[in-house]
Amino acid sequence: MERTLVLLKPGIIQRNLMGEIITRFERRGLRIVGMKMMQLTDEILNEHYSHLVEKPFFQSLKDSMTATPVVALCLEGVDAIRVVRMMAGTTNGRNAAPGTIRGDYCVSNQQNVVHASDGPHTAFDEIRRFFKSDEVFDFGMTNLDRLYAPDEYNRDE
Ligand code: UDP
Ligand code: MG
Repeated sequence: MERTLVLLKPGIIQRNLMGEIITRFERRGLRIVGMKMMQLTDEILNEHYSHLVEKPFFQSLKDSMTATPVVALCLEGVDAIRVVRMMAGTTNGRNAAPGTIRGDYCVSNQQNVVHASDGPHTAFDEIRRFFKSDEVFDFGMTNLDRLYAPDEYNRDE
């Protein structure tokens, strides 16, 4: 099992689309093991987007991410990082395939409605950045056999 971090960006909160996006993850079979609304700060965004600090759009990106609170989700599933990245679609919403979240809900490179961790190391760091250890839960999922074959969810990753 793998865990990944998703942020529902301010556009989703402003447009009252939180439920719709969360439903997509639930419907796919991902398990929500952490969820909260939070107001991001300059400090956390400097860390979260440290790979973009030199970009001309850095301040504008940070402004867009503090316009309203965001919703942080920790999602769990087999290959969850890749599954969720594929559900999000390519960064620029105008290029994102229809059927992806960005491809269905936005037409912008920056206002692209969701963040999703891009690999195991970033997922590990990002979950700890947005959640305290007691805000992410371990609880038994009763329908694993309806979502995966046993050799899929038992294997070590
Ligand atoms: N972004 C932007 N302009 C760009 C590229 C990215 O404003 O030319 C924003 C966009 O909101 C994106 C975020 O910066 O989601 C992080 O960029 P990254 O390259 O990590 O893309 P992501 O992993 O979100 O697809
Ligand atoms: Mg990224």
